[in-house]
Amino acid sequence: DSHASDKMASSEVTEIHLKDYAAYPYDVENVTLEFDLEEEFTVVTATSVMRAKPSSIGAPLVLDGRQSFMELLAIYIDDKPVPSRLCAFNPNAEDTRLVVDPAALPADGAKFTLGVVTKFKPQDNLELSGLYKSSGNFCTQCEAEGFRLITYYPDRPDVMSVFTTKIRADKTKYPVLLSNGNLVGSCDLAGGRHMAVWVDPWRKPCYLFALVAGDLAVVESAFTTCTGKTVDLRIYAEQKNIGRCDFAMESLKRAMKWDEERFGLEYDLDLFNIVAVDDFNMGAMENKSLNIFNSRLVLATPQTATDMDYSAIEGVVAHEYFHNWTGNRVTCRDWFQLSLKEGLTVFRDQEFSSDMGSRSVKRIGDVRYLRDAQFAEDASPMAHPVRPASYMKIDNFYTLTVYEKGAEVIRMYHTLLGEEGFRKGTDLYFERHDGQAVTTDDFFQAMSDANPGCDIGKLKNWYSQAGTPTVTCERAYDAGAKTYSLTLTQVLPKTPDNGGDRPKVAQLIPVKVGLVDAKTGKDLDVSGNVSVTSAGSTSTCVPVPGDAGSVVLRLNDMSATFTFAGVESEPVPSVLRGFSAPVKLAVTPALTADELLFQLAHDSDPFNRWEAAQKMAREIMCRAIRSTWHEGKTELASDDDAAEAVTADAAWGKFVDACKGIFRDAASDVVDRAWVEEALSFPGVGSLVQELKPVDPLAVHKVVKQFSKRFALACSDEIEACYATCKAEAAALGEYLVDETQTARRSLMGYCMALMGAAGHGGEEASELAAAAAAARNMTETVAALGALNRHPTAKAARDAAFDAFKQKWRDDNNVICTYLSLVAGNSGYGASPLEEVKATMADESVYSHKIPNKFYSLVGGFARGNTPGFHAADGSGYVFLADCLLAMDKTNAIAASRLAKPFTEWRLYDAPRQALMKGEIDRILKAEPSPNMFEIMTKSLA
Ligand SMILES: [Zn+2]
Repeated sequence: DSHASDKMASSEVTEIHLKDYAAYPYDVENVTLEFDLEEEFTVVTATSVMRAKPSSIGAPLVLDGRQSFMELLAIYIDDKPVPSRLCAFNPNAEDTRLVVDPAALPADGAKFTLGVVTKFKPQDNLELSGLYKSSGNFCTQCEAEGFRLITYYPDRPDVMSVFTTKIRADKTKYPVLLSNGNLVGSCDLAGGRHMAVWVDPWRKPCYLFALVAGDLAVVESAFTTCTGKTVDLRIYAEQKNIGRCDFAMESLKRAMKWDEERFGLEYDLDLFNIVAVDDFNMGAMENKSLNIFNSRLVLATPQTATDMDYSAIEGVVAHEYFHNWTGNRVTCRDWFQLSLKEGLTVFRDQEFSSDMGSRSVKRIGDVRYLRDAQFAEDASPMAHPVRPASYMKIDNFYTLTVYEKGAEVIRMYHTLLGEEGFRKGTDLYFERHDGQAVTTDDFFQAMSDANPGCDIGKLKNWYSQAGTPTVTCERAYDAGAKTYSLTLTQVLPKTPDNGGDRPKVAQLIPVKVGLVDAKTGKDLDVSGNVSVTSAGSTSTCVPVPGDAGSVVLRLNDMSATFTFAGVESEPVPSVLRGFSAPVKLAVTPALTADELLFQLAHDSDPFNRWEAAQKMAREIMCRAIRSTWHEGKTELASDDDAAEAVTADAAWGKFVDACKGIFRDAASDVVDRAWVEEALSFPGVGSLVQELKPVDPLAVHKVVKQFSKRFALACSDEIEACYATCKAEAAALGEYLVDETQTARRSLMGYCMALMGAAGHGGEEASELAAAAAAARNMTETVAALGALNRHPTAKAARDAAFDAFKQKWRDDNNVICTYLSLVAGNSGYGASPLEEVKATMADESVYSHKIPNKFYSLVGGFARGNTPGFHAADGSGYVFLADCLLAMDKTNAIAASRLAKPFTEWRLYDAPRQALMKGEIDRILKAEPSPNMFEIMTKSLA
């Protein structure tokens, strides 16, 4: 298959730079796409009405298209074929460009019609980009550059047009024909075929184009907008799955209502469609009025989806819907601006989920993810700013930095401007830019103009500088003057993107702070007594409306001192409340163990209470690792020595006692149980490795494991009591609900089971867990029991039996079986080795297929990210396995392969022997002439 791999040698891949941006010389007034879908091949006729921009009459007409994938059957200007001497394929660009000589176009800049006819085989398209087939149905994925696998067209986001789509296909095989906008006509054709005509009245770039043709079932509902318009809502899925769409439908309605209330944004068409497909590279895609979803993010029943799946579905359905305004109505000028739509939309979906559930728990979860994954990216050779300055393949820049850090930047606008000021800013942004393709600078300008008198200029530097800043916070109490001062200093790390040496400039960092009275545990009133006392400072402070116990310190310089007056005795500072900026915080002198325990007990900010427990656990584990491992040491400490290093720590006893109290509160339900589950879920290997780098990951894993085990043993009475209470409450319940109370209870129960597995001190627990797996009434309970059995050191027989039962039950379900694959990937040591079990599972065609990215992500990704002993095995076998999998996948689906290449880019985190092994695999991948996507990641990771 010629299309399957890019024919260019990787070394010819070129870098594209933001500074080279030039507007497209032509406007596309409208475009009509006619699809003739056949079993052998598909023919697409694209007819565009175009005109040169007044300043660029006489410019060549450059069209993007992949020559190795499509056959160009014909090209016309105003119904006349373009002679071949006036039409050339540009062989230098990696995705071929078709260049039409201006001599073929009207010389006076008049309007003309471009006709392009292409032919290709969607059924052979394993890239899952452009038009392809999933389970026998046609579907599309055009973001970022998939449209160029459909026809020759200016495939760039700043070319916006009105699309009409005509789809012709066999009526029996493909009764459902969908595209963007409104259905304006349909009819039967000769030969058992039929046709549908869709018109989307809103101008859009081609990356938002979508088409679906297939035999799909549908659920229907409706939503009445704030102005009384009725919108028909439809979710399409395969017939066997159609009973699993109700939760996604309810989520969609909640999202539509929330966007009206919070942002004043109303839906703009009479119809909104969602289609669930099994074969999909990403999570979901916000195509105008025809969202296409990875079916894992639509389908849910209590029997098939965990509470985490439910919350992901609610979040992603909302995210894609919110794109209708942030992304579709106002879109990106170029792909460097990806965070314009993604950072803003992630912020919006985070806020939506916070309003639907527990705000503090949502925030903690988001920060945990940001720190574990995005901070690691920021510290790696792949570090790049929220608005990258260059790329080779834009597919590689759908990153945590663009999405999650981008959302944090938006959150800082919100913190600095307040809810009201933020809303004024977004109102102005939509008013100014509706129907346009714009930049992050335009967004900044709207926010800034809507809030005159509020200088947020240095917030812009977050878009152009990579790396995670560290904020040091020096605290000092003056008992005589009764003042308390905090000196904040920002330290911006060197990153490979700016040549390493160019000095970085100050970023505006909002640091939300409270002072807690050390005697009463209550917040001091800080609303009126703080001032900036460093000379010449541009930093300021602003009160927090409705919260006299907090103030936002706006660090606008490299360093500034903030002084609180009238402080009667030395308080405990609560710095970076709610994680008000995506930074690493270092308080000096560091908070003592007693101060952390005080914070855990008293801080009014639930984030910092959680943080106190995390910090204590992290410090105990780091000290234990440092005392049992050092650079050059090749032999691991014994389990007993690692355990001893943990329990002999001076803070251990107090820490365990505080946690026992939290368990008791959770059992009697006087605290938010979801918060408890977060508070007692301590940092894992990935996050500790970042702190201790370079380090032997197995030495870290050993301490983490012993920490859990000792913690579980020390708290076993409290854990058992907590588990028993939750179990009894759950047994007494009637209806299964995905609400806050039930979800929190199930998550706490699952947490207790995981600790019972980690304690692993007898057959009793093993049989309790096996019984729990057998008796589970829903997927949340099943996964909790299987996960716990996976950790139990002596329950092999029970574990294998439970895993096999699960596999037999769900082998024909492409979604649920991914849960099984993730669990297998997390095997921590049963059987010959974790890797052997993963390999055996991969060879089992009844559960695994390379063609379904979800399965690849669950099994291979789960192993590389979540299985420390297997992936980081000292003999390098885990690395060889990942490289083999990447090379195999890269041949057919470069986007999916590149998404799992990340573990190799983090080689610098590990000890010297592992660095050598990982670099060996990177070299091997590069020598195999990988796709441009893989080439970019691998070469940059060596930088
Ligand atoms: Zn998005």
